[in-house]
Amino acid sequence: MSNKQLLDAAKARYQAFCDEGLSLDMTRGKPAPAQLDLSNELLTCLNTSGFKAADGTDCRNYGVLDGLPEARAFFAQYLEVAPNEVIVGGNASLNLMYDAMTRAMLFGVPGATSPWCRQGKIKWLCPAPGYDRHFNVCADMGIEMITIEMTDQGPDMDEVKRLVAADASIKGIWCVPRYSNPTGITYSDDVVDALAQMPTAAPDFRIFWDNAYNVHHLTDNPKPLRNIMDACKAAGHADRVYIFGSTSKITFAGAGIALLAASSNNLAEAKRHISMQTIGSDKLNQLRHLKFFGDMDGLRAVMRKHATILKPKFDMVLQVFRDELASTDLASWSEPEGGYFISLDTRPGLAGKVVAMAATAGVKLTGAGATYPHGKDPQNRNIRISPSLPSVEEIRKAMAVVSTCIKIASWESEA
Ligand code: PMP
Repeated sequence: MSNKQLLDAAKARYQAFCDEGLSLDMTRGKPAPAQLDLSNELLTCLNTSGFKAADGTDCRNYGVLDGLPEARAFFAQYLEVAPNEVIVGGNASLNLMYDAMTRAMLFGVPGATSPWCRQGKIKWLCPAPGYDRHFNVCADMGIEMITIEMTDQGPDMDEVKRLVAADASIKGIWCVPRYSNPTGITYSDDVVDALAQMPTAAPDFRIFWDNAYNVHHLTDNPKPLRNIMDACKAAGHADRVYIFGSTSKITFAGAGIALLAASSNNLAEAKRHISMQTIGSDKLNQLRHLKFFGDMDGLRAVMRKHATILKPKFDMVLQVFRDELASTDLASWSEPEGGYFISLDTRPGLAGKVVAMAATAGVKLTGAGATYPHGKDPQNRNIRISPSLPSVEEIRKAMAVVSTCIKIASWESEA
């Protein structure tokens, strides 16, 4: 077929999709109802005789700022830190990240000479493509974002090291170290070590280590992730890292448990302020999560069930892309071993058009640009694919639509 014939055929196929009146939402990495069902026991596992913690604390009442001792012990294992290095918080780790940034801006962090908001222009390193809500936190506080290229090992560390060594106004970096949102890569040992060891001009530099997908494997042999807390301690930078995590994508999204881990120095400072903010988080939620998981093996068993639901969805995205696009040079995509996303790159300049065309055909995708600071992808090529919510069949259809849009956008731009 000639190029013109190929384009005409793609356009006819696109029109047929539009005529189907599709309505598919792939905008966010929401768990599917079948995944939420895996944790329904949470709704019944507490009863009138089971609301007390191991030490007799009545979990219906106020108190216990940093979490039940058994919850701290459990989630310390989960995050691979010591129990006294964890605070078990509310329902959203994003909330903890926003608050950690706010505290640093208002009060400073241990090692800071003054609050960040009194230090003139503050800058932050943003590996991209990355998580849009991280970038929104910076934007909200007027923190200048510096885009760092993501490699398949993690952020481009040559660039990171060069920048942080020279500029004391760079106060930190966002990291999603495992199954990075959206590329799905896991940071290499070298990257973790470099982050822990690198000299920084700012004495109060912080790594915001968002390990949201810590146990969210799609394979049986997950690649290990080096322990950032150990690496920071070994480098003499114990205060450098704040670790975040949550059970949002283990149990109920938005009704799970959020976690903050950091050195005792950092946690003492955080707790001074958190104690003004709340009398304590929801201990009944902690209790029921502990009952539901039992132990770490119980948590891992839940994650294997999630993988059983998610893997066919990821496979379907990849299969359609391979069938439709592998023989062309129109797009490239990641093949993650875990997490919630696949990162798709069109030819430069076309992501916005592809997302708009897909929307017209009834397939809503995350906005083009969302994976970059200020929602602006300098190359306008990255699209985040979130396969968790739709069914496998819906994904087959949605990805066929996206592939068709990519072909049309690419071939039209050649004409
Ligand atoms: N961090 C990352 C990297 C995420 O992808 C998400 C959810 N999409 C969150 C944090 C949000 O977590 P939480 O529900 O605990 O606020």
